[in-house]
Amino acid sequence: MLAVREVEDIFADIVDCVKAIDPANVRRWFEKLTVTHLSGGSLEVGCPDEATVQFLRDNCKNSFTQAAQQITGHLVAVDFNIISRDKTGRRSLRPMLGLKLHPDYTFDNFVVGPSNRLGHASCVAVSHSLGDTYNPLFIYGSSGLGKTHLLHAVCCEVRQKSDQAVIQFLSCEEFVNRFIRAIETGNLAGFQSQFRTVDALVIDDVQFFREREQSQEEFFHTFNALYNNGKQIILSADSPPGKISSLEERLISRFSWGLVTRIDPPSYETRVAIVQKKAHVRGITISDEIAEYIARKAHANIRELEGALTTLYAVSTTTGKPITLELAQVALEGQIESAARYISITDIIEVVTGHFDVRLTDLQSKRRSQSITMPRQICMYLARNLTKHSLEEIGGHLGGRDHTTVMHACSKIGEAEQNDSQMHALLADLTKQITKVPRD
Ligand code: ADP
Ligand code: MG
Repeated sequence: MLAVREVEDIFADIVDCVKAIDPANVRRWFEKLTVTHLSGGSLEVGCPDEATVQFLRDNCKNSFTQAAQQITGHLVAVDFNIISRDKTGRRSLRPMLGLKLHPDYTFDNFVVGPSNRLGHASCVAVSHSLGDTYNPLFIYGSSGLGKTHLLHAVCCEVRQKSDQAVIQFLSCEEFVNRFIRAIETGNLAGFQSQFRTVDALVIDDVQFFREREQSQEEFFHTFNALYNNGKQIILSADSPPGKISSLEERLISRFSWGLVTRIDPPSYETRVAIVQKKAHVRGITISDEIAEYIARKAHANIRELEGALTTLYAVSTTTGKPITLELAQVALEGQIESAARYISITDIIEVVTGHFDVRLTDLQSKRRSQSITMPRQICMYLARNLTKHSLEEIGGHLGGRDHTTVMHACSKIGEAEQNDSQMHALLADLTKQITKVPRD
């Protein structure tokens, strides 16, 4: 039998070892983890809340298992559980809500700047008083600007305020999948009561409703039931309600009943603050100089800032070198270049539809007139060249076309680029617009 002190020392060594094995997933709050059991080939780690448990189970099980084995020299089964102290000082399990919240995605960890001030403020307001302020709350913006983070933060805040509040938080894709399953298994009533009896329904990425008519219909009724009972609805999407193609008019109008708020790409100052915040969350210390370097170089998408930080930390841990500006420059050279080039299909479609003055719905339609076919093919060609998406994915964005259609478009436009100087100039101009640096 090991003494408590010994167990704690061993656990501290295990955590240090995890840091070396998997620097990307290390968080400052690892220091708050405790060991609740270590013997007989099993290690139980005590965590402060459900979000932490989920994060560790999803991301760190392997590294903890490997580390535990390395430190103890035995095969060890690892599990993570919530512990908290109730008023009597005894350890007790807190009830679970069944949400899978990410521990990093809190209001505390969200940097507020001009680009997201309104979105942030409305989420905070809603979390203070469900159903009373903005209902529904609709947040939209390009990928990687913090929509999902904010939705998690609302749920996390509500959860902290009240264990009783029932929240359903899921991606639109999951809503659709569960709906399909309910139909298949003939359990529509169960599905409906699951969603219509909550205090808050939070659905991420509702652009996924696109062209899913039956799901839209179902959601329409869910929406009405909740709304009429004063229950909160929070939605996010990559575009405003009216620009989500093939979304029913009655949903568009309902989505706009409350507050529709946009998140823009962050300014340089906000990016620097985000880098610092992300470093802090991971327990890394970096100088302002390095944060500024990363923020200057990686501007397209906040995920890229995080990726840069992870690489830097990993290089520093594995080489044992301190994090200096020089190390950052060497470590991030390739990565940041690709980060700077990060472009989404949505960016491409936005520029191309703007240039040709056509709508996304036209590009996604079956229409074959030259005025539509050409911009559609140009989108495909640029998506092929400027993103890492597969032919299938590109076809999916443009009205569910199959990969041979995309391939045909690519070779046709590619050929025109070679042989037609006007097309050459047009493509160069569009590419420049698509890859342009967001203004600070
Ligand atoms: P979206 O859902 O809009 O595509 P996410 O919420 O997934 O974007 O954000 C991508 C990453 O950027 C996440 O790691 C998130 O924490 C981070 N992020 C975005 N905006 C901020 C912000 N203002 N402060 C801190 N982190 C942010
Ligand atoms: Mg998201």
